[in-house]
Amino acid sequence: MEKIKRTAIVDLLKSSDYGKNVCVKGWVRTKRGNKNVIFIAVNDGSTIKNIQIVADATKFDENLLKQITTGSSVCIFGVLVESQGSGQTVEIHASTIEIYGTADETYPLQKKGHSMEFLREIAHLRPRTNTFGAVFRIRHNMAFAIHKFFHERGFFYFHTPIITASDCEGAGQMFQVTTLDLKNIKKSANGEVDFSEDFYGKPANLTVSGQLEGELAATALGLIYTFGPIFRAENSNTLRHLSELWMIEPEMAFYEIDDNMQLAEDFIKYCIRWALDNCSDDIKFLCDMFDKELIDRLNFVIANDFVRLKYSEGIKILEDAVANGHKFEFPVYWGTDLAAEHERFLVEQYFKNPVILTDYPKEIKSFYMKQNDDGKTVRAMDVLFPKIGEIIGGSQREENLEKLKKRAAEMNVPDKDIWWYMDTRRYGTVPHSGFGLGFDRLILFVTGMANIRDVIPFPRTPKNAEF
Ligand code: ATP
Ligand code: MN
Repeated sequence: MEKIKRTAIVDLLKSSDYGKNVCVKGWVRTKRGNKNVIFIAVNDGSTIKNIQIVADATKFDENLLKQITTGSSVCIFGVLVESQGSGQTVEIHASTIEIYGTADETYPLQKKGHSMEFLREIAHLRPRTNTFGAVFRIRHNMAFAIHKFFHERGFFYFHTPIITASDCEGAGQMFQVTTLDLKNIKKSANGEVDFSEDFYGKPANLTVSGQLEGELAATALGLIYTFGPIFRAENSNTLRHLSELWMIEPEMAFYEIDDNMQLAEDFIKYCIRWALDNCSDDIKFLCDMFDKELIDRLNFVIANDFVRLKYSEGIKILEDAVANGHKFEFPVYWGTDLAAEHERFLVEQYFKNPVILTDYPKEIKSFYMKQNDDGKTVRAMDVLFPKIGEIIGGSQREENLEKLKKRAAEMNVPDKDIWWYMDTRRYGTVPHSGFGLGFDRLILFVTGMANIRDVIPFPRTPKNAEF
């Protein structure tokens, strides 16, 4: 037989070229049958669905058939046939079977129904499960949708640095980057580390955000976004925090807070719609397996306007809830940073809708947010989601140099770290806005998974950097 090129299973399952010779390559999920006929379910990762291979057992070497076990990899030539059985449209009647690699009984994914905890311990193999195949195909599609959304709207993808020598945003939550020999650190007479010997000649860190550099770009190119990994050494062992995460940060010249809110809402809805339209098999699987309300929840978010609420109004609602007997772990008062329980009360119990909360007290927000005339609040906006809590944090930026300088000084941001940032306000300053969306939290929402460790291939969290 002349060499036939491999066809992806996703395409074979859509084909109705019955009688055609085809080639499929993939990993065996299950094998069953008897001494006459064997049924092999093969998956190649292109879709959650397997293709069924039917083999006449009398025509193949017994030893070869024995090697077709769960987890083994195969190359099969055969004829595409309309399926008799239920649950599939086509199957392949095998003429040749080649084993690429065997998998013996130590292969950890023999049976279905492993716990998420166990699968995290074998994160190097878990992409071969239905669940993680689905999650990672959705993750790819979301990344693609994000680039598509911004490109269609005239935004430029701008690459901000991963290593940074300023820690004005980090507040002690940064990973240090050094080539100094930690076992043999040179110190000056007063005990200070001599960083002149270090790679950059000064202390350097992994970035916690690309925003400040993003603003430099927006005040030149107009509309930009970043999309890359960021690092946070905060010791939060929660279901929603990673120490290495992916972040999307658009920055827009001439956008005020209302434009910023509208963009954030349009953006999230676009991504969710993309997932429903392009990942329906995977989402349906996750919905059936883990989260029966997933598809309804995704449709609901697309169909309804997000609630827009000022922080002060939000506090009032929470205070009323407390007065009516609702118990929170953390106290509610004007000036406090909202805890996840407060955010989720507003979203899940009070409004039953995503909420964009704005105009926070300036004390709990960053130095660069635009100050309101009341002298107390800044034009911050957090987008709060059901199940997730905060999915986006953003603001209109302070464009007035004097106000910005004053706030930076009050918050102890050293000028040597941000003199370049200040230049955007010194030369041709403009009103502008931006926000950061945690990519992994978006995937958490779209997949309905419960733990952020299960939506990124190799999660990094405190005391965990395996693989
Ligand atoms: P949180 O209060 O939930 O810790 P944050 O206020 O520190 O988040 P921002 O600095 O506003 O977060 O970052 C913007 C977005 O990045 C957040 O809305 C969230 O979606 C995401 N994000 C921030 N920190 C993490 C993290 N450690 N792991 C995963 N996503 C994160
Ligand atoms: Mn935030």
